Amino acid sequence: MRPVRFNINAKTANIAEAIGAPPPGFGGEGFFATKMSDVVGLARKNSLWPLPFATSCCGIEFMATMASHYDLSRFGAERVGFSPRQCDLLMVMGTISKKMGPVLRQVYLQMAEPRWVIAVGACASSGGIFDTYSVLQGIDQVIPVDVYVPGCPPRPEAIIDGFMRIQDLVGQESVRRRNGDQYKALLNSYGIE
Ligand code: SF4
Repeated sequence: MRPVRFNINAKTANIAEAIGAPPPGFGGEGFFATKMSDVVGLARKNSLWPLPFATSCCGIEFMATMASHYDLSRFGAERVGFSPRQCDLLMVMGTISKKMGPVLRQVYLQMAEPRWVIAVGACASSGGIFDTYSVLQGIDQVIPVDVYVPGCPPRPEAIIDGFMRIQDLVGQESVRRRNGDQYKALLNSYGIE
């Protein structure tokens, strides 16, 4: 078989540390005490349910990311859902036209808290090469975005890297954040009550 190098600058990933490390705390004979936020974060970050909002070519890269070679389910994201009410990670992939903006926003609003958003690729992040009258110049004009993945299209490695950045955010997020004034102010800046 022809050897294939997928990444000429391969990095060694510390998967055990990224996924399986227990939160910091105090342990002893038969007990372990830690913060509630850390336990909830550990559970949430390893059981994200993505909603793929794919409108064009970046969606094809996402298909490759989900397929057996890259296998996003290794990160606990096996269950891709198409109902916003069941998902907590909105992955926006592709060119979003201005007509599609309100639809995207509606999907975001139908997701329950806590919810996170990744803009995958140049089009979702900034409009990409389509600097035209009809294309939204970045989805952060209509909804808040947590992680941007660069590329046109981004390779599956880049999508996985963006997913792992989301996992970092999710794992470190306080359970009180969504009730805080700062988060409410962020939503208010988008006209969301
Ligand atoms: S960023 Fe590039 S690959 Fe992705 S949807 Fe836009 S044009 Fe297609």
